[in-house]
Amino acid sequence: ADAATATYADRRGTWHPLPDAAAEAQVRSDDRAHVFHSWSAQALIDPLPVAAGEGSTFWDYQGNAYLDFSSQLVNLNLGHQHPDLVAAIQQQAGRLSTIQPSMASDVRGDLARRIAEVSPGDLDRVFFTNGGTDANEYAVRMARAVTGRRKVLSMYRSYHGGTATAISLTGDPRRWANEPSDGSVAHFLGPYPYRSSFHADSPEQEASRALAHLEQVIILEGAGTIAAIIIETIVGTNGVLVPPPGYLQGVRELCDRFGIVYIADEVMVGFGRVGEWFAVNAFDVVPDLITFAKGVNSGYVPLGGVVISQRIAEHFDTVAFMGGLTYSGHPLACAAGVATFEVFERDGILERVRDLGSRVVEPRLLGMAERHPSVGEVRGLGLFWAIELVSDASSRAPLVPFNASGADAAPMAAVAAACKQGGLWPFVHFNRLHVAPPLVITEAELVRGLDIIDEALSIADGYVA
Ligand code: PLP
Repeated sequence: ADAATATYADRRGTWHPLPDAAAEAQVRSDDRAHVFHSWSAQALIDPLPVAAGEGSTFWDYQGNAYLDFSSQLVNLNLGHQHPDLVAAIQQQAGRLSTIQPSMASDVRGDLARRIAEVSPGDLDRVFFTNGGTDANEYAVRMARAVTGRRKVLSMYRSYHGGTATAISLTGDPRRWANEPSDGSVAHFLGPYPYRSSFHADSPEQEASRALAHLEQVIILEGAGTIAAIIIETIVGTNGVLVPPPGYLQGVRELCDRFGIVYIADEVMVGFGRVGEWFAVNAFDVVPDLITFAKGVNSGYVPLGGVVISQRIAEHFDTVAFMGGLTYSGHPLACAAGVATFEVFERDGILERVRDLGSRVVEPRLLGMAERHPSVGEVRGLGLFWAIELVSDASSRAPLVPFNASGADAAPMAAVAAACKQGGLWPFVHFNRLHVAPPLVITEAELVRGLDIIDEALSIADGYVA
């Protein structure tokens, strides 16, 4: 069958061997004519047609292989086509493909129990959603119901999702075109030692000054009006900002003092990205609600959720929770989640993330920071790192301005193009290159990817004043 008329199953057979120019042309023309893409001016984009993936690699239709150093959108923690996840989904599909949320399902319960077992403190109940955005929507709704208050505080440097409440929680420029919001969100400055808003000269001072600022915001916004504070445990898309020592404990203390619900957004960092089930475990802090998605099943079937503390869950013992989704705890998604737990435990994924992060990635990135004048700072944890690029090391001027899209701005586009040319798919945002490969990446692949980045940084060096 030719590519234009073949069924999907027929076409699969033509994926190998690549290249397949006819299939590529068909994908491109269907996509350009009929697919409306996220966050984009539709006529200005050129999405890469992807034919297949395996492990840490995916292929385009020309047969070019890319090492996936962005794990798609930092969700593909167990890599492409993991056989255990594929088999779990296939088996579940053969037995029970969907079940409505008000019925009990074995696989939904199994996954909820496993999540409760690895959650901190008394967080032991799970409300399942279809992704991270709606997890945050529902977490905020729970906080409002429990406190009887409406306002929510979030960081300027944050991303919490794309729908009405979640985009207003978001602090980064994606919020601007969607404003004004309903006025119930106020933003504050989080810690960022490399670009301290508080003129701090140590991480400890940054933490204490950022906490003093947050306390002032709480008081000036009216403590009695604030339902929740939502914080990415490690700020993700906006910079891989690892909180300085004491900061998150201080947030916990402020929330306790003012009766505010602490929501930890772990959509990007949960499920192993930093070598912990939940990143809060690395900072010894217990929030009231944790939101998750992405890594819970590597995005094989959309899934997210809210892990709920007993105190908040008990509020809804006799008062109905007014919220729900047809696909809450979808069996195919949960089956992939259960398989994820089994793989993590059998293959020691958390341990290997900690090992590869501290033994391979950290020293190598620190070396790049020393050798490349364009590298202002490298920072991160586990397999989640940022390389922040500057045009002048002493003033720390960003290589591209804050409100320029990193993908479009010339120097970053050149760095990204060099990575792709070398066979690596990078995650680029503003003046940063993030290192977030699948957690199953082999050490040889990791080193090869870091070599490609090292070489691409020479291009950024050419823009240094
Ligand atoms: N929260 C954080 C920290 C995220 O990184 C994202 C997505 O990147 C979201 C929420 C939104 O999740 P989703 O795109 O699954 O709706």
